[in-house]
Amino acid sequence: MNKKKHPTREDWEKLAANLTFPHQAYINGEYLNAASGETFDCISPVDGKTLTQVASCDVADADKAVKAARAAFESGVWRDLPPAKRKQILQKFADLITQNRDELALLETLDMGKPIRFSSSVDISGAARTISWTAEAIDKVYGELAPTSVDKIGMITREAVGVVVNIVPWNFPLLMASWKFAPALAMGNSVILKPSEKSPLTALRVAGLAKEAGIPDGVFNVLPGLGSKVGKALALHMDVDTLAFTGSTAVAKQLMVYAGESNMKRVWLEAGGKSPNIVFADAPNLEKAAQAAAQGIAFNMGQVCTAGTRLLVEASIKDEFVALVKQALVKWQPGHPLDPKTLNGAIVDKQQLSKVLGYIEKGQQEGANLAFGGQQAFQETGGCYVQPTIFTEAENTMQIAAEEIFGPVLSVLTFDSMQDAVTQANDTIYGLAAAVWTADLNKAHKTAKALRAGSVWINNYDGGDMTAPFGGYKQSGNGRDKSLHAFDKYTEIKATWLSLEAD
Ligand code: NAD
Repeated sequence: MNKKKHPTREDWEKLAANLTFPHQAYINGEYLNAASGETFDCISPVDGKTLTQVASCDVADADKAVKAARAAFESGVWRDLPPAKRKQILQKFADLITQNRDELALLETLDMGKPIRFSSSVDISGAARTISWTAEAIDKVYGELAPTSVDKIGMITREAVGVVVNIVPWNFPLLMASWKFAPALAMGNSVILKPSEKSPLTALRVAGLAKEAGIPDGVFNVLPGLGSKVGKALALHMDVDTLAFTGSTAVAKQLMVYAGESNMKRVWLEAGGKSPNIVFADAPNLEKAAQAAAQGIAFNMGQVCTAGTRLLVEASIKDEFVALVKQALVKWQPGHPLDPKTLNGAIVDKQQLSKVLGYIEKGQQEGANLAFGGQQAFQETGGCYVQPTIFTEAENTMQIAAEEIFGPVLSVLTFDSMQDAVTQANDTIYGLAAAVWTADLNKAHKTAKALRAGSVWINNYDGGDMTAPFGGYKQSGNGRDKSLHAFDKYTEIKATWLSLEAD
């Protein structure tokens, strides 16, 4: 299959029919059942069928994994390797992910419903790129010398923190995981990855690839299970040094409480968003802006932390612009996730689908105007599909415009001036991303500066790669993933002072 340039839906279905689903936890270099023997159903949102039963880990498994991770860390088997050696092993890990891309992409699509073209080109390729970019940086991170008096040498070095827990969401399962475990491993830590119970498969599969690449036992562990059980056990554990999380703001807040109730482990949070996409009447190309607005709400079925869920349009062009967005959304109608032409697949599960449909209902009750979409699709398949949806006449006071829906539901608001646009854009508890479209350089920069968000896009809605940090202001979190800034989460900074004897 790897050799075939353009696989068809039939090719993917054939591969799916012969797929083996990983289902055991991975602790200390071994695939194991949960200590309790419990499992949970892994159900595909593509058609509602059960793919496998996955180990449901709990306190005992968390303990076992932390012990293994601690022992590996203390032994120095990973952290004391020359950086160039860790780099080589992580590069091999990235290569193995690339070599197994079809299988991993298929697991991702079946597990959480995203179109196969994106599982392959965005998620799995992106995870491999993340690991290899990070690996490449390992032996280029230097310490510092303090500018101090002549009889002293002050050395500033970075050290691995120890046992790192990564708790991640289901929207880009392996990609979000790799943004965390790659820099954590690169810096010499031991990692315990807790994938979402809605999408555990790729994390479990890559554990075996980590071993094949040469990552020592105990250094990379994967614990599937419920957040309220194994996630909580890890977050409360007294021997975990750092907890790096991506997920909802509600759970992020809970994790800060757990850290306070336990050992004050460092907590790094990438949480929710309700990002404004501001379109001024003088945008250089309204059609391009509309295409981006459509993609900004429909890509990954709207299950994107940076989704452009609040479209702020200058009042004078509102009708014209909304018409262009509707046109642009035509190609984003739901389709079968294994069809390579499909851009918009299934919502992750029934619970999330009913949350999205609930908001569509609520928007109408709140007095917004349902201008496009709004219907569930392909119900007969047993899968979870919904049309991209536009509400006009929305206000920040409405729940559809204030709360994170995590589905393809766009709220359109209007503004009359730059100040009005900025005020409305910042009127949110979140601060993850924002965009501004204008041909006026002065307006673009002034607006970008005034926006309280970790990423701001000017005349685009998706800028970003491994070279730039990613993270949020306000209740969208703290700390940054990607780029060299990601290493801050996984290192302690040590100042070592040496006194020189007088002659
Ligand atoms: P979630 O918060 O429900 O779950 C995230 C993870 O936390 C899962 O692995 C879950 O099992 C675990 N968890 C849940 N309760 C827990 C508890 N009490 N203790 C420990 N762990 C617990 O989020 P989700 O629904 O999986 O993902 C969607 C959310 O993720 C959205 O809010 C989205 O904005 C956010 N997200 C943010 C970013 C970012 O970079 N800022 C990126 C992707 C997704």
